[in-house]
Amino acid sequence: MLKDNLNHVMKKVRESCNAKSLNMDDITVIAVSKTKPIEMIEELYNIGCRNFGENKVQELLDKYEVLPKDIQWHMIGHLQRNKVKYIVDKVALIHSVDSLRLAETIEKEAEKKDCIVNILIEVNMAKEESKYGVYPENLEKLLREINTFSHIRVNGLMTVAPNVKNPEENREIFTKMKNLSVDIAEKNIDNITMSILSMGMSNDYAIAVEEGANMIRVGTSIFGARNYNIE
Ligand SMILES: *Cc1c(COP(=O)(O)O)cnc(C)c1O
Repeated sequence: MLKDNLNHVMKKVRESCNAKSLNMDDITVIAVSKTKPIEMIEELYNIGCRNFGENKVQELLDKYEVLPKDIQWHMIGHLQRNKVKYIVDKVALIHSVDSLRLAETIEKEAEKKDCIVNILIEVNMAKEESKYGVYPENLEKLLREINTFSHIRVNGLMTVAPNVKNPEENREIFTKMKNLSVDIAEKNIDNITMSILSMGMSNDYAIAVEEGANMIRVGTSIFGARNYNIE
């Protein structure tokens, strides 16, 4: 069943790539496993999935502990500074850095553990009050502060687009994100690359890929609906 869901997602990604003459191999699909049991992750692991996304530190650690070590864990949720120390040396990528204070904490903890932490900067492109992320006009300043940190590598941008009924409504947000990423790349800021653009979720990943996402975060369409009551 999970295999069928994954195949369906891959098929839609392929269609988006074909429509825009993009290379499907450039797209990383992150299976967002938050609230889902170990067995489901193992099932996907056994058919080749290696990228999984979690939004809570404790849950990520619990799963990290028992699952194979070649899994790439993506921290996609809001990260509290006091929890940074538990994950800096365990995650492949932190998608949700949106403040200098958080980056400073990551730098400090990474130095202690003698590791380099790969991050994305979360951008609140739609300026939704309920969402985390730096506003686009403040992005460059933040990047020019973070780029002095020797234990952090900024690899690109991430956004959580608005929760809309018709995914077409988010197309413009995705286009703006792509343009922002290209603009920043052209500034050639030291130690900063814009090689990753993480955007698109179950509802709108096909459109995100068409507009330039090369990392999509898909939960519901792979694992089925989440139930937050039984845990
Ligand atoms: C939960 C979550 C997703 C996946 O959402 P679905 O709609 O289930 O695909 C993607 N990104 C973030 C940041 C999330 O918290």
